[in-house]
Amino acid sequence: METAQDLKMNVYKFGNKTADGNSKLRNLLGGKGANLAEMSWLGIPVPAGFTITTEVCTKYNEYGEEETIAMIKPEVEEAIKNIEEIMGSTFGDKENPLLISVRSGARVSMPGMMDTVLNLGLNDEVVLGLAAKTNNERFAWDSYRRFIQMYGGVVLGMKPESKDDIDPFEEIMEHLKEKRHIELDTEFTVQDLQDLVYDFKDAVKKRTGHDFPTDPWDQLWGAVIAVFNSWNGDRAVYYRKMHNYPADWGTAVNVQAMVYGNMGENSGTGVCFTRDAGTGENVFNGEYLIDAQGEDVVAGVRTPLQITKLGSERWAELAKVDEEERIASYPSLEEKMPEIFKELDAYQDKLEKHYRDMQDMEFTIQEGKLWILQTRNGKRTGAAMVKIAIDLLKSKMIDEKEALLLLEPNKLDELLHPVFDPKALKRAHVIAQGLPASPGAATGQLVFFADEAGKYKNSILCRIETSPEDLEGMNIAKGILTARGGMTSHAAVVARGMGKCCVSGAGALKINYKGRSLRVGDKVYHEGDWISLNGSTGNIIEGKVATVEPELSGEFAEIMDLTNKYSKLKVRTNADTPKDAIVAKNFGAQGIGLTRTEHMFFEVDRIRAMREMILAETVKGRKHALEELLPMQRKDFEGIFEAMEGLPVTIRLLDPPLHEFVPHQLATQKELAEDMHISLQAVKNKVADLSEFNPMLGHRGCRLGNTYPEITEMQTRAIIEAALNLKEKGIEAKPEIMIPLVGTYAEFLEQERIIRGTAQQVFDERNDSIEFMVGTMMEIPRATLIADKIAERADFFSFGTNDLTQMTYGYSRDDAGKFLPIYLDKGILTSDPFEILDQEGVGQLVEIGTERGRKTKPNLKVGICGEHGGEPNSVEFCYNTDLDYVSCSPFRVPIARLSAAQAQIKAS
Ligand code: ADP
Ligand code: MG
Ligand code: MG
Repeated sequence: METAQDLKMNVYKFGNKTADGNSKLRNLLGGKGANLAEMSWLGIPVPAGFTITTEVCTKYNEYGEEETIAMIKPEVEEAIKNIEEIMGSTFGDKENPLLISVRSGARVSMPGMMDTVLNLGLNDEVVLGLAAKTNNERFAWDSYRRFIQMYGGVVLGMKPESKDDIDPFEEIMEHLKEKRHIELDTEFTVQDLQDLVYDFKDAVKKRTGHDFPTDPWDQLWGAVIAVFNSWNGDRAVYYRKMHNYPADWGTAVNVQAMVYGNMGENSGTGVCFTRDAGTGENVFNGEYLIDAQGEDVVAGVRTPLQITKLGSERWAELAKVDEEERIASYPSLEEKMPEIFKELDAYQDKLEKHYRDMQDMEFTIQEGKLWILQTRNGKRTGAAMVKIAIDLLKSKMIDEKEALLLLEPNKLDELLHPVFDPKALKRAHVIAQGLPASPGAATGQLVFFADEAGKYKNSILCRIETSPEDLEGMNIAKGILTARGGMTSHAAVVARGMGKCCVSGAGALKINYKGRSLRVGDKVYHEGDWISLNGSTGNIIEGKVATVEPELSGEFAEIMDLTNKYSKLKVRTNADTPKDAIVAKNFGAQGIGLTRTEHMFFEVDRIRAMREMILAETVKGRKHALEELLPMQRKDFEGIFEAMEGLPVTIRLLDPPLHEFVPHQLATQKELAEDMHISLQAVKNKVADLSEFNPMLGHRGCRLGNTYPEITEMQTRAIIEAALNLKEKGIEAKPEIMIPLVGTYAEFLEQERIIRGTAQQVFDERNDSIEFMVGTMMEIPRATLIADKIAERADFFSFGTNDLTQMTYGYSRDDAGKFLPIYLDKGILTSDPFEILDQEGVGQLVEIGTERGRKTKPNLKVGICGEHGGEPNSVEFCYNTDLDYVSCSPFRVPIARLSAAQAQIKAS
């Protein structure tokens, strides 16, 4: 049988326990569409509908509106007919109308990125039919006003005009509420709702100059095109950039029969998770609202109720609500609709087992019947991610490899951030309590608008509730605080996805946007005031709270142990001090891939000797200064070797242009002149002499060691003597001496000769010896091309992909800030090559260098020590290129270890 894909269909139907697609077609149908189809197959009640593929979106971007609509029109009409048959109602019919929702859905879930329109198909006549059919006038008019509101916002661009304005439709509602002395949407009468519809349409006409569209088919096409457009909207583009998702993925459009949660006390809507998305705890949880539709829960308009009794009790404790009041006013779904709860509980269990991962689901109850509207692998914090993987592994739902693949390497970063110091917390002044929406510790200065989050280095974004427009600011802020909304509100979901600390629904906060202030009881806090958030408890604390470094323990440690089992690619660290080396070793680093020696020279007591060395006019003068530096360097190396006990340590000889070490300010120049008993002019001359037009391509790297061999001699001596000293103490040191910036074979040979010669001299003096290696940094394109030659003498290569990228592209890394952002914006570059290794170009040089080097010396040790060494995609590339190790900064070591294991699992 021909499958749907062979036929190149643009539209895939689902519903009634069958579907054209399934969850494997995620790229084509988007996550939402693929899972709706899959749930249909599983016999889970989803309202009938269809998905317009992501390919259509891509075509739309190329060919425009008219051609696209013409292309898919017949298929869409047929698919609508299919819904009509299943639901027994007709789209646009005045007596028995079918209403639909139009929903976006990319291949990865982008919460709140794309806009959804509900109740589509209503107009002044259809609304009367809906009222008569359901015998529920209030519901019909409530649906109509919601439709105009959503369609107006999403499709017709009816958004607030300035940032302290509220939504134009909300404004009309607020006015009416004031006039009628009511507080809740549910208190509107039928007459009120009819007035709202009239006023809404009037507002649309005034703002857009056009009447609100009355023809259901016009409405449908308008909404479909709006979904396609939203793929290129600011929010979506920003989110894609944040996650490096390519623009050509496109979004699918899901059209689906409406089910109504707003039909009264026996109806409702909610969101639930099979496990706790904040902590990973294995408890079913979620929130719901009675007599409400879709977005109401997430938008934080009303504070929702808990789904389970346990969740409700926990909530009541935080909210200081007693048991009697809880049962009366805030019952759980489990208590309020036990039958529905049982059914929902069964589905969540079934879905988690089916997808073998934590699920995040949406549901609606229409007059006592449960419908599932969405399921997806739930967003979670780094801590929850690790716990869930370990728990699923222990319950045997997944195996070790699957557990490792369930993790997103970059999210481990969250586990490496500081947490509040328990001692400081004891003294903290808690001013209010919200919901622990996303764990973590945040201290910062208050801001009240998302676009002002960058105003302070550390800011806390405080909002009544957040909306998708706030995404960028939420990303910049250190923490997020909202007065309204529950654990599944926009703020909470997005914050957990970002791994950002968030406290939501803190009802005691009275936020005044115009005054840029926040009142709690009698106390007022202004923009710029410091506060702290504890995302794990929901505490809001006055002022700053001290933090401490986290450690690798518990489930995190278990996962890290597991990575060793599946990764032959080793992970080393870039560390210049014993302190960094120890941090990295505790995170599991298997050696040092790069110690930069120059940083050691910047310390106060050394910079003077260093400058003296640079300013010296003669070899003798230079040697004198170097003698002063020798014992200091030796001590540094002893410290590092000791910290790494028996693990390999790659030490790079002096690399940066000397110009970086000399003083550029008059005062310091004077000081130096006095210190060295030379004239100020002499100092000035020397500084001028050292200045270069293009220092990155100037007198640096092995060019220093080859013009001033005594520097290489001194550094080699320091390394070898340090290793011998440790040997005497019974500690094994494994130095690997690395020559920087080699471009020709002779450059390498010359340095190698000095290094081996000096080492031999020290061995003779001490009548003792150690093993050591001599290798080179591969960072000049030419060197990678003659790698076979260099490998004749080199024991190892280490790709310095920062410089290699710089020189391959011809981009100065220090100046790239002027054009890189524009290139990224225009799509001339898809990612920053200094961040993500350019596999297409620079990657070839890594491959060539490795291949040619190993042709000469099959067991040549090859690694990478650029910033890329801790970036998951680049680590995967290194694994596939058969490197021996990657090296990255200490805090990226766990990320690189996981990436290395994943690369190996994926390849096998
Ligand atoms: P998002 O991706 O932002 O979650 P959705 O398309 O999932 O957007 O829809 C937003 C809200 O509308 C959700 O709560 C969803 O359950 C609800 N919804 C979508 N389609 C329907 C429908 N056909 N009937 C009832 N509610 C719906
Ligand atoms: Mg959704
Ligand atoms: Mg370099």
